[in-house]
Amino acid sequence: MVAAGMDVARLNFSHGTHESHRRLAGLVRAAAQEHDRAVAVLQDIQGPRIRVGVFPGGSVEVSAGSMVTLVDGDGEGSAERVPVQHLGSVALSVGDRILMSDGLVTMVVRTVSGGEVMAEVVDAGTIADHKGVAFPGAAIGLPAVTAKDRDDLEFGLELGVDLVAASFVTSGDDIRMVREIVGDVPIIAKIERADAYTNLPDILAEANGAMVARGDLGVELGFEPLPRAQKEIIARTNAAGAISITATEMLESMTTAQRPTRAEVTDVANAVLDGSDAVMLSAETAVGKYPVRTIKVMADICHEAEMSPGYPAPAATGSVGGDTPFPRAIAHAVADTAGSLDLETVVAFTESGSTARLVSRYRPNSRIVAFTPSERTYNRLAIVWGVTPMMFPRLGSTDEMIAAAERILLDRGIVQPGEWVAMAAGIPPNRQASTNLLKLHVIGSDPTGIPEGLV
Ligand code: PEP
Repeated sequence: MVAAGMDVARLNFSHGTHESHRRLAGLVRAAAQEHDRAVAVLQDIQGPRIRVGVFPGGSVEVSAGSMVTLVDGDGEGSAERVPVQHLGSVALSVGDRILMSDGLVTMVVRTVSGGEVMAEVVDAGTIADHKGVAFPGAAIGLPAVTAKDRDDLEFGLELGVDLVAASFVTSGDDIRMVREIVGDVPIIAKIERADAYTNLPDILAEANGAMVARGDLGVELGFEPLPRAQKEIIARTNAAGAISITATEMLESMTTAQRPTRAEVTDVANAVLDGSDAVMLSAETAVGKYPVRTIKVMADICHEAEMSPGYPAPAATGSVGGDTPFPRAIAHAVADTAGSLDLETVVAFTESGSTARLVSRYRPNSRIVAFTPSERTYNRLAIVWGVTPMMFPRLGSTDEMIAAAERILLDRGIVQPGEWVAMAAGIPPNRQASTNLLKLHVIGSDPTGIPEGLV
C-alpha cells in the first residue's frame, strides 16, 4: 500500500483494540521505512457516536409502516424493540427523523414518553449490530470527548500518532477539549454533523484541518447538498491555511470490483481540483478485496487530475491567524517565484513543518521538498498538499544546508545540474519560525560544499 501511493494510514478507533492498532501502526512505520517514504498515522477517534445494540443473528429487517420502540441501552433487541445507546441524551420531539444503517433506514418519531420513543418506519431495510444512528437537527447532550475517546487519545499519544481526527464535533469548544489532551498533535475536525458545517469558521479557528466526512454528513444533510458542502468546506479550509481531506465512498465499487466506475474517477479528480490536501479511502482498503490496486488507481487519478487546466485551485490569500510575518512573506514569495520562473521544485527547510505548510498554502505549481531534521515533522508533513518530506541532518549553517539539500536532490534524481530551484531558509538556522531568506539557486553552480560523508 505504501509503494502504491499511500501517504496517510487512518486507524479507526470505532473498531479494533489498542493491541490491534499498535500492531497496524508498527506495520505502517516499518513499510514507510522500507520504502523511504513519509507516511503519517492518523488516529480517528469515535467521538459521541450513537449506535444501536445487537440482534439475534446479527441484524433485523424493519418494514415500512411498522412501529418500532427505541429504548436506551446497548443490549439485545428485535425488529420491534431496538436498543439505542444514550437515547436519553437526545432531545427528540414528535415528527423528528431518525436514520440508521448509513441513512438507508429512516423513521419518524410518533411518541416520546417515559424514556421510550415510538417511531414509524418510513424507509424499510436491515439494521445490523452496532450500526450508527443519526438524529438530524436534534440536540445531543453528550460531550465531544467521551471516556473511551480520552482513553484512546492517551493511547494514541503513547503510540506517537502524527494526526488526530475528531468525530462528531460541532464547535470550536469541542476541538479545544481534544486539544487539552493531545497538545500540539494536529487535529482534523470531521465535518459530519449539520451543526459542524454551520459552525465551520469557529471550528477552523481551533483545528488544523477539516475532513469532508461525506458518509455521515450525507445522512445529516441529505445527499443533494453534499457537492456544494464539499466545495465550501474545502475552500474555507484552504483559505484558513488548514489541511483539507475529502472522504468516503470515493472508489466504493472497488471494494468488490477490480475497476472503478467513471463517476468515481470523476469524483476523485474533482476532489483534487476542489483543492483537497488528501483524498481518503475507507471500506475499499479496510475490508475491500483489492486494497493495493485501489490505492494505485486513486494515486493515478490524482496525478492525472493535477495536469488539468485550472489546477491548482486558489488557496489562502494574505494572512491567516497564528502566522509570523517574515515566514509568511517568504513562503508567498517562494510560491510566486515558482510561478514566474516555472520552477519544478522548491525547497523549504523546516523545523516544525510550518514553513513547508506555509509554502503549500500558496499552492505553487511545483513540488515542495521539505527538509527537516525532525522525524515528527517528517511524518506529519506527509498529508500536506504538494509536499515531499525528507529527513535531513541538523547542520550548523544555512550554506551547509543548501549544499546538503542540493546533493540529496541530485542523488535522488529530483533535480538536474543547471536547474533553478527556490529555497526558503532561515538565518540563523535550526530555530522555529526563523524563515527570513529566499535563495534562488542554480543546481551545481555553487561550489560551497560540505565535507563528504556528512549526508
Ligand atoms: C464519514 O462519515 O464519512 C466518515 C469519514 O466517518 P467514519 O468513516 O469514521 O464513519
